[in-house]
Amino acid sequence: MADQAKTYKFKAEVNQLLDILVHSLYTNREIFLRELISNASDALDKVRFELTRGSEVADKDLPLEINIELDKDKKWLKISDTGIGMTRDEIVKNIGTIAKSGTADFLERLSKEAKPQEMANIIGKFGVGFYSVFMVAERVEIVSKSYLKDEPAVKWISEGKGSFKVMELEETPKRGTAITVYLKEDAKEFAEDWRVKEIIKKHSNFINFDIKVNGEKV
Ligand code: ADP
Ligand code: MG
Repeated sequence: MADQAKTYKFKAEVNQLLDILVHSLYTNREIFLRELISNASDALDKVRFELTRGSEVADKDLPLEINIELDKDKKWLKISDTGIGMTRDEIVKNIGTIAKSGTADFLERLSKEAKPQEMANIIGKFGVGFYSVFMVAERVEIVSKSYLKDEPAVKWISEGKGSFKVMELEETPKRGTAITVYLKEDAKEFAEDWRVKEIIKKHSNFINFDIKVNGEKV
């Protein structure tokens, strides 16, 4: 490791949101995958924009695509994109510390909602879709390499319980973001090939980039 891991606390509203996601919103857990794919697609759109306007972009010849790898026995799912990536500052701000107005809006709406179970399904509209991953994950690891050539790669780790850790990596992976979701025992179905393909067809069929599951195009 190039530096020591540093621990950060999630914003208070983020903790509240995580608590509710984990303890109350069980139905529709599969939508976490739609949220991760949607973020990957946004990141690919952003790097495509930088490429078309002629910016200097790390690994500029990488295909713009989303790859999902599964390990049923070890109960993990890994979603990788060759998008814009995040720097250390960006990952700390974007995932966990900057309070988006959507967090409070989502919590408020939830407190008034007659059918709270259905709230998970619309979490993306509040700009906090990423956190839905903790409905299925006992631990999440993100490795990201920004499109900016001089930025080191960064690793983000969290169990969704109050804090997350961030460290810089010595090695330099290719541009983009890889999110490994270590699944809870009761969520191991999300490491099954057929199940993941079914979810992608149901929720992510409008995505403009290729999505491959264990190397096979969905
Ligand atoms: P939203 O997508 O509505 O902004 P999310 O909670 O889904 O909200 O994601 C929060 C932020 O984290 C995104 O806005 C983006 O900055 C960052 N992010 C998440 N996933 C990725 C990714 N795969 N690549 C780059 N940035 C990402
Ligand atoms: Mg999103």
